[in-house]
Amino acid sequence: MKIAMIGTGYVGLVSGVCFSDFGHEVICVDKDPRKIEMLERGEIPIYEPGLDTLLAKNVAAGRLSFTGDLKAAVNGADAVFIAVGTPTRRGDGHADLTYVMAAAEEIAEAMTAYTVVVTKSTVPVGTNKAVHDVISRVRPGFAFDVASNPEFLREGAAIDDFMRPDRVVVGVTSEQARRVMGEIYRPLFLREFPILYTDLETAEMIKYAANAFLATKITFINEIARLCEKVGADVKQVSRGMGLDNRIGNKFLHAGPGYGGSCFPKDTQALARMGQDHAAPMQIVETVIKVNDEVKRRMIEKIVDLCDGSVNGKTIAVLGVTFKPNTDDMRDAPSLTIVPALVGAGANVRAVDPQGEREGAHLLPHVHWLSDAYGAATGADCVVILTEWNEFRALDLQKLAASMVEPRMADLRNIYNAQDAKAAGFAAYTSVGR
Ligand code: NAD
Repeated sequence: MKIAMIGTGYVGLVSGVCFSDFGHEVICVDKDPRKIEMLERGEIPIYEPGLDTLLAKNVAAGRLSFTGDLKAAVNGADAVFIAVGTPTRRGDGHADLTYVMAAAEEIAEAMTAYTVVVTKSTVPVGTNKAVHDVISRVRPGFAFDVASNPEFLREGAAIDDFMRPDRVVVGVTSEQARRVMGEIYRPLFLREFPILYTDLETAEMIKYAANAFLATKITFINEIARLCEKVGADVKQVSRGMGLDNRIGNKFLHAGPGYGGSCFPKDTQALARMGQDHAAPMQIVETVIKVNDEVKRRMIEKIVDLCDGSVNGKTIAVLGVTFKPNTDDMRDAPSLTIVPALVGAGANVRAVDPQGEREGAHLLPHVHWLSDAYGAATGADCVVILTEWNEFRALDLQKLAASMVEPRMADLRNIYNAQDAKAAGFAAYTSVGR
């Protein structure tokens, strides 16, 4: 199959590289010339473990290339994937479809033979129909189909998620489109990963429902964590006790500083907005959004309380700023709420993150960046663990405490425990739900 991938962000680049590894001929397109130049040099504009090696392998095999020329990439393609951003539209919570629609129009102008135009971006129900209408308007009578193929990969584990998915969801309206999509995903089908064919609307809804459900699960355990703190229960054990129940499962059941990232915040908002627009309010999801905001704010109170009621003039070492480990993605990370609040309250904030500094440097302007946890903690009044990178999971707590002015730790990922922290010399330790 000949595939054009429009957008080389976290989803487009991973999908393009993985499709080429399946054996397809893939051309990845981006309108950002800086990204294309980097990719042509064999460099990766994002941090995603394993992507560099897989990309190099497929470029060398002659199956994968990059261009800024959408027209050339679409020429003769069996399928064109739209993998551009769908951020929250300013002001109203709707998904901003400007990039999707612009791409659809460009694709329409460039098609040379029957093409399946596949939306991989997360888009509200009805968008694929709208994409169909745009293309029909630009190219009346031209043979094409649209397909909805939402992506479920997780940043940080994206290649494995793409290559070994729990399921692939494909919304189609014609037998021909179904055949093309089946051919594209055949290597997965042969390895017995389930492919679920639906109509367009159902495929679009599955993605939002799945993300909102996961965001709800996280928020649920965060609320339980708060109650645990009041009644003297340990949320880590509660999670374990719940998660061992197969009907519940242990994933997305870890209490922490609130969900963030490039998907959950914007997708829950877009789903809530969709519900309002169709007079079918998503009341649970609306509450989840509100509670998650409160969770993030509560983390600020926790840190301030730990610092005897004020962080003014205190030095705080923040370990981790990305929304989760193994990515450089800072979009809607809890750090973007917590760190500015600490700075605003007069704290001197130092930060360490294995991959987050490049983005973080301009998103968190008053922060002093250091390269390791011990350096950041030296002379500090408080250490805050915000992201559970591996390098923060096995810290020498004694060494850390010894270098601090006032050894205090806010462990917002529940990596350590109060007993060990105290034994290592921490005068105060707080975590979430314990
Ligand atoms: P991103 O912002 O990282 O990448 C989007 C890319 O598209 C950018 O490089 C941009 O320059 C490019 N682009 C925009 N318009 C273009 C055009 N007309 N022609 C060529 N290139 C164009 O976004 P992302 O994180 O990869 O997300 C893409 C979509 O996938 C979103 O809808 C998102 O919700 C969804 N999604 C993301 C994830 C994730 O973990 N990031 C997971 C599943 C689904």
